[in-house]
Amino acid sequence: MVHRSMAHEDSIAALLSLLHARESFVVTSHARPDGDAIGSALGLMHLLDGMGKRVTVAFADPIPVIYRWLPGVERIQVALPVATPMPDAAILLECDGFERTGFERQAFDRMGAGLTINIDHHLSGKTFASFNWIDPEACAVGAMIYDLAVASGTEITADMATCLYTAVLTDTGSFTYPSTIAATFALVEHLVKRGADANRIAQAVYFSNPPSKIRLLGAALGNMQIEGPVSWSWVTQAEMARAGAEVEDCEGVVNYLIGIAGVDAAVFLRELPSRKEFRLSLRSKGEVDVAQVAERFGGGGHRNASGCTLDGPLDEAIERIVAELRPDRRQPVH
Ligand code: 5GP
Repeated sequence: MVHRSMAHEDSIAALLSLLHARESFVVTSHARPDGDAIGSALGLMHLLDGMGKRVTVAFADPIPVIYRWLPGVERIQVALPVATPMPDAAILLECDGFERTGFERQAFDRMGAGLTINIDHHLSGKTFASFNWIDPEACAVGAMIYDLAVASGTEITADMATCLYTAVLTDTGSFTYPSTIAATFALVEHLVKRGADANRIAQAVYFSNPPSKIRLLGAALGNMQIEGPVSWSWVTQAEMARAGAEVEDCEGVVNYLIGIAGVDAAVFLRELPSRKEFRLSLRSKGEVDVAQVAERFGGGGHRNASGCTLDGPLDEAIERIVAELRPDRRQPVH
């Protein structure tokens, strides 16, 4: 295990004793799940399996097609358990509250799990559960699950390694975000040695896109605007329909905008089916902090990658967000 602060090791020890003392768990993560949400949830499922526990994994939204091959994905359910026996604990990964799961708060109450556990790596993470382990230094929640697995002494199987590698690969932007440090490579080296196939995972995640995703990208890039160091783009419901695109096809479009030389803040807006609101994906480079910007609009995330929802119409949503991203509105760095 990579050496971190005592608080980190204390959190792991406390969490392990909570897990050891219980038999059945529900694991979930955020709505519109990404690679870290799915990879870390399935990695934790394999860990709990290895510890001899009963575990159910549930997501409120569909699993994007590029992750539907992950080992154990067929066990993912679309609803929290409603029948007895109820789980002893609910574990929420990468969430800043129960609502972020996409399940209703009452669904957690109905489930009646005595203990709620929050495992998160966002700086904006919140202590909403009965036990909270928030490590903003972790490059992915998958990396936290890895530390937990090592500390537990449970065998890291090839299936677990594959899920956790996928979580780390995707949440570090393929090892490009500032959270990528030497320890990240030590971690993935171990996962590859345990059976994660780096080439196969990259093929599945990056080279297996449906044609609709590429058509949608064409529409989005056709709408691209650049103003100094800020770039933005959008897709409407009509454009999504023309491309035959699903919501998951919008994932990653913003990376093309932030990939432009001289651009250090970018936003991609997706019109929601109500046609009254837009879902925003924000990205930045270096010290430009888009987590603060997203939080101002009720969202959150990391300094260089965040998200939020804004009311339409489109031109007003663009004006509001671009105004916050212009250099004159940025917070000074201390
Ligand atoms: P994405 O643009 O990929 O949807 O999100 C980028 C990052 O921001 C992810 O780490 C995601 O968890 C976080 N994020 C996106 N939307 C929200 C939101 O509405 N609330 C919070 N707290 N985080 C968000």
